[in-house]
Amino acid sequence: MLSKSQIMRGLQCEKSLWLRTHKPEERQVPEKVEGRFEQGTSIGELAQLLFPNGTLVEFQHNNLELMCDQTQDFIEQGCKTIYEATFKGNGVFASVDILYKDTRGWHIYEVKGSTQLKGIYVQDSACQYLAVKGQLDIATINIIYVNNKYTRNGDLDIEQLFCIEDITESVREAELHLIPVVTKLHDSKKQMEEPRIVIGLHCSSPYPCDFSKYCRRHLTKPNIFNLYRFKKEKKYQHYQNGVVTYQQAKENLRLNKTQQLQVNSYLDNKTHIDLKKIQSFINKIEFPISYFDFETFNEAIPRFDGQRPYQQMPFQYSLHIEEQNGEISHKEFLADENLEPRKELAEAMLADVPQTGSIMAFNQSFEISRIKELAEFLPEYKEALLALVPRFVDLIEPFRKLGFYHPDFHGSFSIKAILPAMFPNAPDLDYKQLEIQNGGMAMDTFASLPRLKDQEQREQIRDALLAYCKLDTWAMVKITQKLRLLGQV
Ligand code: SF4
Repeated sequence: MLSKSQIMRGLQCEKSLWLRTHKPEERQVPEKVEGRFEQGTSIGELAQLLFPNGTLVEFQHNNLELMCDQTQDFIEQGCKTIYEATFKGNGVFASVDILYKDTRGWHIYEVKGSTQLKGIYVQDSACQYLAVKGQLDIATINIIYVNNKYTRNGDLDIEQLFCIEDITESVREAELHLIPVVTKLHDSKKQMEEPRIVIGLHCSSPYPCDFSKYCRRHLTKPNIFNLYRFKKEKKYQHYQNGVVTYQQAKENLRLNKTQQLQVNSYLDNKTHIDLKKIQSFINKIEFPISYFDFETFNEAIPRFDGQRPYQQMPFQYSLHIEEQNGEISHKEFLADENLEPRKELAEAMLADVPQTGSIMAFNQSFEISRIKELAEFLPEYKEALLALVPRFVDLIEPFRKLGFYHPDFHGSFSIKAILPAMFPNAPDLDYKQLEIQNGGMAMDTFASLPRLKDQEQREQIRDALLAYCKLDTWAMVKITQKLRLLGQV
Protein backbone atom coordinates (compact mmCIF):
# COMPACT_ATOMS: atom_id res chain seq x y z
CA MET A 1 0.00 0.00 0.00
CA LEU A 2 1.16 3.54 -0.74
CA SER A 3 -0.24 6.61 0.92
CA LYS A 4 -1.44 9.54 -1.16
CA SER A 5 1.59 11.60 -0.15
CA GLN A 6 3.94 8.78 -1.19
CA ILE A 7 2.27 8.61 -4.60
CA MET A 8 2.46 12.38 -5.02
CA ARG A 9 6.15 12.22 -4.08
CA GLY A 10 6.74 9.35 -6.51
CA LEU A 11 4.90 11.15 -9.30
CA GLN A 12 7.29 14.06 -8.91
CA CYS A 13 10.38 11.83 -8.73
CA GLU A 14 10.76 8.09 -8.14
CA LYS A 15 14.12 8.70 -6.51
CA SER A 16 12.49 10.96 -3.93
CA LEU A 17 10.06 8.18 -2.98
CA TRP A 18 12.95 5.71 -2.79
CA LEU A 19 15.06 8.03 -0.62
CA ARG A 20 12.13 8.68 1.71
CA THR A 21 11.89 4.92 2.24
CA HIS A 22 15.55 3.90 2.28
CA LYS A 23 17.45 7.03 3.35
CA PRO A 24 14.98 9.15 5.38
CA GLU A 25 17.84 10.67 7.40
CA GLU A 26 18.95 12.61 4.29
CA ARG A 27 15.67 14.52 4.15
CA GLN A 28 15.69 18.25 4.83
CA VAL A 29 12.44 20.04 5.61
CA PRO A 30 12.61 23.72 4.67
CA GLU A 31 11.29 26.15 7.31
CA LYS A 32 8.75 27.69 4.96
CA VAL A 33 7.04 24.37 4.22
CA GLU A 34 6.57 23.70 7.93
CA GLY A 35 5.00 27.13 8.41
CA ARG A 36 2.63 26.64 5.49
CA PHE A 37 1.62 23.24 6.81
CA GLU A 38 0.54 24.79 10.11
CA GLN A 39 -1.58 27.33 8.26
CA GLY A 40 -3.07 24.61 6.05
CA THR A 41 -4.22 22.66 9.08
CA SER A 42 -6.27 25.49 10.51
CA ILE A 43 -7.71 26.31 7.09
CA GLY A 44 -8.87 22.69 6.95
CA GLU A 45 -10.63 23.04 10.28
CA LEU A 46 -12.29 26.27 9.19
CA ALA A 47 -13.47 24.75 5.91
CA GLN A 48 -15.23 22.04 7.92
CA LEU A 49 -17.69 24.77 8.97
CA LEU A 50 -18.98 24.75 5.38
CA PHE A 51 -20.30 21.26 6.22
CA PRO A 52 -21.05 21.52 9.93
CA ASN A 53 -21.77 18.82 12.51
CA GLY A 54 -19.60 16.22 10.85
CA THR A 55 -17.86 13.31 12.55
CA LEU A 56 -14.09 13.38 12.75
CA VAL A 57 -11.97 10.29 12.12
CA GLU A 58 -9.19 10.72 14.68
CA PHE A 59 -5.69 10.82 13.18
CA GLN A 60 -3.72 7.72 14.11
CA HIS A 61 0.00 8.00 13.55
CA ASN A 62 1.18 4.88 11.67
CA ASN A 63 -2.24 3.23 11.89
CA LEU A 64 -4.16 4.11 8.78
CA GLU A 65 -5.94 0.74 9.00
CA LEU A 66 -7.64 1.90 12.19
CA MET A 67 -8.70 5.14 10.48
CA CYS A 68 -10.20 3.07 7.62
CA ASP A 69 -12.12 0.90 10.12
CA GLN A 70 -13.44 3.97 11.94
CA THR A 71 -14.55 5.49 8.63
CA GLN A 72 -16.47 2.33 7.72
CA ASP A 73 -18.12 2.33 11.14
CA PHE A 74 -19.27 5.94 10.70
CA ILE A 75 -20.64 5.23 7.23
CA GLU A 76 -22.54 2.18 8.53
CA GLN A 77 -23.91 4.29 11.40
CA GLY A 78 -25.42 6.64 8.77
CA CYS A 79 -23.07 9.64 9.22
CA LYS A 80 -23.59 12.06 6.33
CA THR A 81 -20.59 14.33 6.93
CA ILE A 82 -17.21 12.83 7.83
CA TYR A 83 -13.95 14.73 8.29
CA GLU A 84 -10.66 12.94 7.47
CA ALA A 85 -12.53 9.88 6.16
CA THR A 86 -9.83 7.34 5.25
CA PHE A 87 -9.92 4.58 2.66
CA LYS A 88 -7.70 1.92 1.20
CA GLY A 89 -8.22 0.43 -2.21
CA ASN A 90 -6.34 -0.28 -5.45
CA GLY A 91 -3.03 -0.21 -3.56
CA VAL A 92 -3.64 3.28 -2.12
CA PHE A 93 -4.34 4.72 1.31
CA ALA A 94 -5.94 8.19 1.26
CA SER A 95 -7.81 10.51 3.58
CA VAL A 96 -10.50 12.89 2.39
CA ASP A 97 -10.72 16.26 4.15
CA ILE A 98 -14.51 16.38 3.97
CA LEU A 99 -16.85 13.63 2.79
CA TYR A 100 -20.48 14.67 2.46
CA LYS A 101 -23.58 12.73 1.44
CA ASP A 102 -26.79 14.00 -0.15
CA THR A 103 -29.46 12.51 -2.41
CA ARG A 104 -27.04 12.41 -5.37
CA GLY A 105 -24.46 10.35 -3.51
CA TRP A 106 -21.16 11.14 -1.79
CA HIS A 107 -19.15 14.28 -2.46
CA ILE A 108 -15.42 14.58 -1.86
CA TYR A 109 -13.98 17.95 -0.78
CA GLU A 110 -10.24 18.49 -0.51
CA VAL A 111 -9.12 21.70 1.21
CA LYS A 112 -6.10 23.66 -0.05
CA GLY A 113 -4.47 26.74 1.43
CA SER A 114 -3.64 28.21 -1.98
CA THR A 115 -5.60 30.99 -3.67
CA GLN A 116 -6.05 29.22 -6.99
CA LEU A 117 -6.78 25.86 -8.48
CA LYS A 118 -3.57 24.08 -9.48
CA GLY A 119 -3.11 21.22 -11.95
CA ILE A 120 -1.44 19.09 -9.29
CA TYR A 121 -4.70 19.01 -7.28
CA VAL A 122 -6.26 16.83 -9.98
CA GLN A 123 -3.54 14.18 -9.43
CA ASP A 124 -3.95 14.57 -5.69
CA SER A 125 -7.69 13.98 -5.89
CA ALA A 126 -7.21 11.13 -8.36
CA CYS A 127 -5.25 9.30 -5.60
CA GLN A 128 -8.20 9.76 -3.25
CA TYR A 129 -10.64 8.64 -5.88
CA LEU A 130 -8.56 5.52 -6.53
CA ALA A 131 -8.67 4.62 -2.83
CA VAL A 132 -12.43 5.25 -2.50
CA LYS A 133 -13.55 3.84 -5.87
CA GLY A 134 -15.76 0.79 -5.65
CA GLN A 135 -16.63 1.42 -1.99
CA LEU A 136 -18.81 4.51 -2.30
CA ASP A 137 -21.02 6.04 -4.92
CA ILE A 138 -19.05 9.23 -5.66
CA ALA A 139 -21.18 12.03 -7.17
CA THR A 140 -18.62 14.85 -7.28
CA ILE A 141 -15.00 15.62 -6.41
CA ASN A 142 -14.21 19.19 -5.40
CA ILE A 143 -11.39 21.47 -4.31
CA ILE A 144 -11.95 24.11 -1.66
CA TYR A 145 -9.39 26.90 -1.79
CA VAL A 146 -8.92 30.39 -0.37
CA ASN A 147 -10.61 33.37 -2.03
CA ASN A 148 -8.04 36.16 -1.94
CA LYS A 149 -10.62 38.70 -3.18
CA TYR A 150 -12.49 38.40 0.10
CA THR A 151 -12.06 41.30 2.53
CA ARG A 152 -13.06 40.73 6.12
CA ASN A 153 -15.70 43.05 7.48
CA GLY A 154 -16.99 42.01 10.90
CA ASP A 155 -17.39 38.28 11.55
CA LEU A 156 -15.51 35.92 9.27
CA ASP A 157 -17.76 34.99 6.36
CA ILE A 158 -16.84 31.37 5.69
CA GLU A 159 -18.88 31.18 2.48
CA GLN A 160 -16.96 34.17 1.10
CA LEU A 161 -13.58 33.09 2.41
CA PHE A 162 -13.54 29.91 0.33
CA CYS A 163 -14.03 29.05 -3.34
CA ILE A 164 -15.26 25.58 -4.32
CA GLU A 165 -14.51 24.09 -7.72
CA ASP A 166 -15.89 20.84 -9.10
CA ILE A 167 -13.08 18.87 -10.78
CA THR A 168 -14.90 15.52 -11.10
CA GLU A 169 -14.38 15.04 -14.84
CA SER A 170 -10.65 15.82 -14.79
CA VAL A 171 -10.13 13.50 -11.81
CA ARG A 172 -11.94 10.56 -13.41
CA GLU A 173 -9.72 10.95 -16.47
CA ALA A 174 -6.51 11.32 -14.44
CA GLU A 175 -7.36 8.28 -12.31
CA LEU A 176 -7.28 6.02 -15.41
CA HIS A 177 -3.67 7.04 -16.07
CA LEU A 178 -2.76 6.70 -12.41
CA ILE A 179 -3.40 2.95 -12.02
CA PRO A 180 -0.29 1.72 -13.95
CA VAL A 181 1.81 4.46 -12.30
CA VAL A 182 0.85 3.26 -8.82
CA THR A 183 1.90 -0.32 -9.73
CA LYS A 184 5.24 0.98 -10.98
CA LEU A 185 5.79 3.07 -7.85
CA HIS A 186 5.12 0.05 -5.62
CA ASP A 187 7.91 -1.78 -7.45
CA SER A 188 10.40 1.07 -7.44
CA LYS A 189 9.88 1.73 -3.73
CA LYS A 190 10.82 -1.88 -2.95
CA GLN A 191 13.90 -2.10 -5.18
CA MET A 192 17.23 -2.16 -3.35
CA GLU A 193 19.21 0.04 -5.70
CA GLU A 194 18.89 3.84 -5.62
CA PRO A 195 17.21 5.05 -8.84
CA ARG A 196 19.63 6.81 -11.20
CA ILE A 197 17.78 10.06 -11.61
CA VAL A 198 19.75 13.27 -11.94
CA ILE A 199 18.66 16.70 -10.76
CA GLY A 200 16.41 18.67 -13.12
CA LEU A 201 13.42 20.95 -13.31
CA HIS A 202 11.35 18.28 -11.57
CA CYS A 203 13.31 18.95 -8.33
CA SER A 204 11.29 22.10 -7.69
CA SER A 205 8.04 21.41 -9.50
CA PRO A 206 5.36 21.10 -8.32
CA TYR A 207 7.05 21.24 -4.89
CA PRO A 208 10.63 21.89 -3.75
CA CYS A 209 12.12 18.44 -3.08
CA ASP A 210 13.37 17.83 0.44
CA PHE A 211 16.29 15.68 -0.82
CA SER A 212 17.80 18.51 -2.83
CA LYS A 213 20.87 18.82 -0.56
CA TYR A 214 21.55 15.09 -0.88
CA CYS A 215 21.20 15.06 -4.67
CA ARG A 216 23.40 18.16 -5.03
CA ARG A 217 26.13 17.04 -2.65
CA HIS A 218 28.61 16.57 -5.51
CA LEU A 219 28.31 20.20 -6.62
CA THR A 220 30.94 22.59 -5.32
CA LYS A 221 29.96 26.23 -4.94
CA PRO A 222 29.76 28.44 -6.87
CA ASN A 223 28.46 26.66 -9.94
CA ILE A 224 26.22 27.22 -12.93
CA PHE A 225 23.15 27.28 -10.67
CA ASN A 226 24.45 30.47 -9.03
CA LEU A 227 24.48 32.41 -12.31
CA TYR A 228 22.48 35.62 -11.99
CA ARG A 229 19.14 35.56 -13.83
CA PHE A 230 20.13 32.62 -16.02
CA LYS A 231 17.02 30.67 -17.02
CA LYS A 232 16.49 27.53 -14.93
CA GLU A 233 15.76 25.40 -18.02
CA LYS A 234 19.06 26.48 -19.55
CA LYS A 235 20.98 25.85 -16.34
CA TYR A 236 19.84 22.23 -16.22
CA GLN A 237 20.39 21.80 -19.95
CA HIS A 238 24.02 22.98 -19.70
CA TYR A 239 24.57 21.04 -16.47
CA GLN A 240 23.52 17.84 -18.22
CA ASN A 241 26.02 18.67 -20.97
CA GLY A 242 28.81 18.91 -18.42
CA VAL A 243 28.95 22.69 -17.96
CA VAL A 244 29.08 22.99 -14.18
CA THR A 245 31.84 25.30 -12.93
CA TYR A 246 32.29 29.03 -13.56
CA GLN A 247 35.36 28.25 -15.67
CA GLN A 248 33.30 25.92 -17.87
CA ALA A 249 30.50 28.51 -18.02
CA LYS A 250 32.99 31.17 -19.13
CA GLU A 251 34.40 28.94 -21.85
CA ASN A 252 31.15 27.51 -23.18
CA LEU A 253 28.25 29.88 -22.60
CA ARG A 254 27.16 33.24 -23.92
CA LEU A 255 26.88 35.25 -20.70
CA ASN A 256 25.38 38.69 -20.27
CA LYS A 257 27.27 41.59 -18.70
CA THR A 258 26.28 40.84 -15.10
CA GLN A 259 26.99 37.12 -15.46
CA GLN A 260 30.39 37.85 -17.06
CA LEU A 261 31.26 40.15 -14.19
CA GLN A 262 30.07 37.56 -11.68
CA VAL A 263 32.21 34.80 -13.22
CA ASN A 264 35.32 36.93 -13.84
CA SER A 265 35.18 38.53 -10.41
CA TYR A 266 35.14 35.08 -8.82
CA LEU A 267 37.80 33.54 -11.06
CA ASP A 268 40.14 36.54 -10.61
CA ASN A 269 39.12 36.99 -6.96
CA LYS A 270 38.68 40.69 -7.63
CA THR A 271 36.09 43.23 -6.50
CA HIS A 272 34.71 45.31 -9.33
CA ILE A 273 34.21 49.01 -8.62
CA ASP A 274 32.76 51.55 -11.04
CA LEU A 275 33.22 54.92 -9.34
CA LYS A 276 31.05 56.80 -11.87
CA LYS A 277 28.04 54.62 -11.11
CA ILE A 278 28.58 54.85 -7.37
CA GLN A 279 28.96 58.63 -7.62
CA SER A 280 25.79 59.01 -9.67
CA PHE A 281 23.90 57.08 -6.95
CA ILE A 282 25.44 59.11 -4.12
CA ASN A 283 24.46 62.35 -5.88
CA LYS A 284 20.78 61.42 -5.61
CA ILE A 285 20.85 61.19 -1.82
CA GLU A 286 19.66 64.14 0.24
CA PHE A 287 20.20 64.65 3.99
CA PRO A 288 18.76 63.81 6.43
CA ILE A 289 18.75 60.22 5.16
CA SER A 290 15.92 58.02 6.51
CA TYR A 291 17.01 54.39 6.24
CA PHE A 292 13.70 52.60 6.36
CA ASP A 293 12.55 48.97 6.42
CA PHE A 294 9.16 47.28 6.98
CA GLU A 295 8.46 43.79 8.28
CA THR A 296 5.16 42.27 7.27
CA PHE A 297 3.11 39.20 8.01
CA ASN A 298 0.51 37.48 5.90
CA GLU A 299 -2.05 34.92 6.95
CA ALA A 300 -4.60 32.84 5.12
CA ILE A 301 -7.39 33.72 7.50
CA PRO A 302 -7.82 37.49 7.94
CA ARG A 303 -8.09 38.49 11.61
CA PHE A 304 -8.91 42.16 11.16
CA ASP A 305 -11.47 44.23 9.29
CA GLY A 306 -10.22 45.41 5.93
CA GLN A 307 -7.72 42.51 5.67
CA ARG A 308 -7.65 40.05 2.76
CA PRO A 309 -6.26 36.48 2.88
CA TYR A 310 -2.45 36.51 2.46
CA GLN A 311 -2.38 40.31 2.32
CA GLN A 312 1.04 41.71 3.29
CA MET A 313 0.36 43.45 6.60
CA PRO A 314 3.12 45.77 7.85
CA PHE A 315 3.56 45.31 11.60
CA GLN A 316 7.01 46.71 12.25
CA TYR A 317 9.55 49.18 10.97
CA SER A 318 13.04 50.32 11.77
CA LEU A 319 14.32 53.77 10.91
CA HIS A 320 17.87 55.07 11.18
CA ILE A 321 18.19 58.80 10.51
CA GLU A 322 21.55 60.16 9.39
CA GLU A 323 22.07 63.93 9.55
CA GLN A 324 24.53 65.79 7.34
CA ASN A 325 26.81 66.36 10.36
CA GLY A 326 27.14 62.57 10.78
CA GLU A 327 24.75 62.24 13.74
CA ILE A 328 22.70 59.06 13.62
CA SER A 329 19.52 58.32 15.56
CA HIS A 330 17.22 55.32 15.62
CA LYS A 331 13.43 54.96 15.80
CA GLU A 332 11.32 51.86 15.61
CA PHE A 333 7.79 50.53 15.83
CA LEU A 334 6.48 47.06 16.64
CA ALA A 335 2.72 46.51 16.75
CA ASP A 336 0.84 44.67 19.46
CA GLU A 337 0.33 41.26 17.86
CA ASN A 338 -3.31 41.14 18.95
CA LEU A 339 -4.34 44.47 17.43
CA GLU A 340 -4.87 45.72 13.90
CA PRO A 341 -1.41 47.23 13.22
CA ARG A 342 -1.84 49.53 10.25
CA LYS A 343 -3.28 52.75 11.69
CA GLU A 344 -0.89 52.93 14.63
CA LEU A 345 2.05 52.05 12.41
CA ALA A 346 1.17 54.72 9.82
CA GLU A 347 0.78 57.38 12.52
CA ALA A 348 4.11 56.48 14.12
CA MET A 349 5.84 56.40 10.75
CA LEU A 350 4.51 59.80 9.70
CA ALA A 351 5.68 61.23 13.02
CA ASP A 352 9.12 59.56 12.90
CA VAL A 353 10.20 60.09 9.29
CA PRO A 354 11.71 63.58 8.87
CA GLN A 355 9.79 66.00 6.64
CA THR A 356 12.67 66.33 4.21
CA GLY A 357 15.54 64.30 2.80
CA SER A 358 15.82 60.93 1.10
CA ILE A 359 14.12 57.77 2.31
CA MET A 360 16.46 54.88 1.65
CA ALA A 361 15.18 51.33 1.26
CA PHE A 362 16.79 48.19 -0.06
CA ASN A 363 14.64 47.03 -2.98
CA GLN A 364 12.25 49.93 -2.56
CA SER A 365 9.28 48.47 -4.47
CA PHE A 366 8.30 46.43 -1.39
CA GLU A 367 8.24 49.45 0.95
CA ILE A 368 6.53 51.68 -1.65
CA SER A 369 3.81 49.07 -2.30
CA ARG A 370 3.06 48.77 1.43
CA ILE A 371 2.88 52.59 1.77
CA LYS A 372 0.45 52.81 -1.18
CA GLU A 373 -1.71 50.08 0.40
CA LEU A 374 -1.69 51.94 3.72
CA ALA A 375 -2.75 55.09 1.86
CA GLU A 376 -5.75 53.24 0.38
CA PHE A 377 -6.68 51.76 3.75
CA LEU A 378 -6.31 55.03 5.67
CA PRO A 379 -7.82 57.84 3.57
CA GLU A 380 -7.18 60.36 6.37
CA TYR A 381 -3.41 59.84 5.89
CA LYS A 382 -3.45 59.21 2.16
CA GLU A 383 -1.88 62.50 1.13
CA ALA A 384 0.85 62.42 3.76
CA LEU A 385 1.70 58.77 3.00
CA LEU A 386 1.81 59.22 -0.76
CA ALA A 387 4.04 62.28 -0.30
CA LEU A 388 6.75 59.90 1.01
CA VAL A 389 6.91 57.88 -2.21
CA PRO A 390 8.86 60.28 -4.50
CA ARG A 391 11.51 60.65 -1.75
CA PHE A 392 12.59 57.00 -1.97
CA VAL A 393 16.09 56.07 -3.11
CA ASP A 394 16.89 52.40 -3.69
CA LEU A 395 20.15 51.11 -2.22
CA ILE A 396 20.06 48.06 -4.47
CA GLU A 397 20.58 50.33 -7.49
CA PRO A 398 24.40 50.78 -7.35
CA PHE A 399 24.73 47.00 -7.04
CA ARG A 400 22.28 46.04 -9.77
CA LYS A 401 23.86 48.62 -12.06
CA LEU A 402 27.24 47.04 -11.32
CA GLY A 403 28.79 49.99 -9.53
CA PHE A 404 30.12 47.50 -6.97
CA TYR A 405 30.48 43.74 -7.31
CA HIS A 406 32.26 41.48 -4.84
CA PRO A 407 33.16 37.87 -5.78
CA ASP A 408 31.30 36.63 -2.69
CA PHE A 409 27.96 38.03 -3.90
CA HIS A 410 27.63 34.83 -5.95
CA GLY A 411 25.09 36.37 -8.26
CA SER A 412 22.81 37.66 -5.53
CA PHE A 413 22.06 41.32 -4.83
CA SER A 414 20.16 40.68 -1.63
CA ILE A 415 21.30 42.54 1.48
CA LYS A 416 22.02 39.16 3.10
CA ALA A 417 24.58 38.44 0.34
CA ILE A 418 26.02 41.95 0.10
CA LEU A 419 26.55 42.66 3.80
CA PRO A 420 28.90 39.78 4.74
CA ALA A 421 30.87 40.27 1.54
CA MET A 422 31.41 43.99 2.21
CA PHE A 423 31.92 43.57 5.99
CA PRO A 424 33.38 40.09 6.47
CA ASN A 425 34.68 40.57 10.03
CA ALA A 426 31.94 42.60 11.67
CA PRO A 427 29.97 40.67 14.30
CA ASP A 428 27.60 43.63 14.78
CA LEU A 429 26.58 43.23 11.13
CA ASP A 430 26.19 39.45 11.19
CA TYR A 431 22.60 38.21 10.90
CA LYS A 432 23.77 34.78 12.11
CA GLN A 433 24.34 36.29 15.57
CA LEU A 434 20.63 37.06 15.83
CA GLU A 435 17.78 34.89 17.02
CA ILE A 436 15.68 35.98 14.04
CA GLN A 437 17.79 35.94 10.91
CA ASN A 438 15.50 36.68 7.99
CA GLY A 439 12.18 38.22 7.00
CA GLY A 440 10.45 34.84 6.75
CA MET A 441 11.38 34.00 10.34
CA ALA A 442 10.22 37.45 11.48
CA MET A 443 6.91 36.95 9.71
CA ASP A 444 6.28 33.46 11.15
CA THR A 445 7.39 34.53 14.63
CA PHE A 446 5.08 37.54 14.76
CA ALA A 447 2.16 35.52 13.37
CA SER A 448 2.61 32.91 16.12
CA LEU A 449 2.89 35.48 18.98
CA PRO A 450 -0.88 35.65 19.73
CA ARG A 451 -0.77 31.96 20.69
CA LEU A 452 2.06 32.52 23.20
CA LYS A 453 0.89 32.78 26.81
CA ASP A 454 4.25 33.22 28.60
CA GLN A 455 4.79 37.00 29.03
CA GLU A 456 8.54 36.75 29.56
CA GLN A 457 8.99 34.66 26.43
CA ARG A 458 6.77 37.08 24.52
CA GLU A 459 8.99 40.03 25.50
CA GLN A 460 12.11 38.10 24.50
CA ILE A 461 10.64 37.37 21.09
CA ARG A 462 9.58 40.97 20.60
CA ASP A 463 13.14 42.08 21.47
CA ALA A 464 14.47 39.61 18.91
CA LEU A 465 12.12 41.05 16.28
CA LEU A 466 13.29 44.58 17.08
CA ALA A 467 16.95 43.52 16.89
CA TYR A 468 16.43 41.89 13.50
CA CYS A 469 14.67 44.85 11.89
CA LYS A 470 17.18 47.26 13.40
CA LEU A 471 20.04 45.39 11.75
CA ASP A 472 18.30 45.71 8.38
CA THR A 473 18.46 49.51 8.52
CA TRP A 474 21.84 49.64 10.29
CA ALA A 475 23.21 47.50 7.46
CA MET A 476 21.92 50.08 4.99
CA VAL A 477 23.68 52.86 6.93
CA LYS A 478 27.00 51.00 6.84
CA ILE A 479 26.72 50.03 3.16
CA THR A 480 25.83 53.60 2.15
CA GLN A 481 28.71 55.02 4.19
CA LYS A 482 31.11 52.62 2.50
CA LEU A 483 29.80 53.57 -0.94
CA ARG A 484 30.16 57.26 -0.02
CA LEU A 485 33.76 56.70 0.99
CA LEU A 486 34.48 54.94 -2.30
CA GLY A 487 32.71 57.71 -4.22
CA GLN A 488 34.96 60.33 -2.64
CA VAL A 489 38.16 58.65 -3.87
S1 SF4 B 1 16.38 16.40 -5.54
FE1 SF4 B 1 15.52 15.99 -7.56
S2 SF4 B 1 16.49 14.15 -8.26
FE2 SF4 B 1 16.81 14.24 -6.07
S3 SF4 B 1 15.16 13.09 -5.23
FE3 SF4 B 1 14.51 15.18 -5.26
S4 SF4 B 1 13.43 15.44 -7.17
FE4 SF4 B 1 14.58 13.54 -7.33
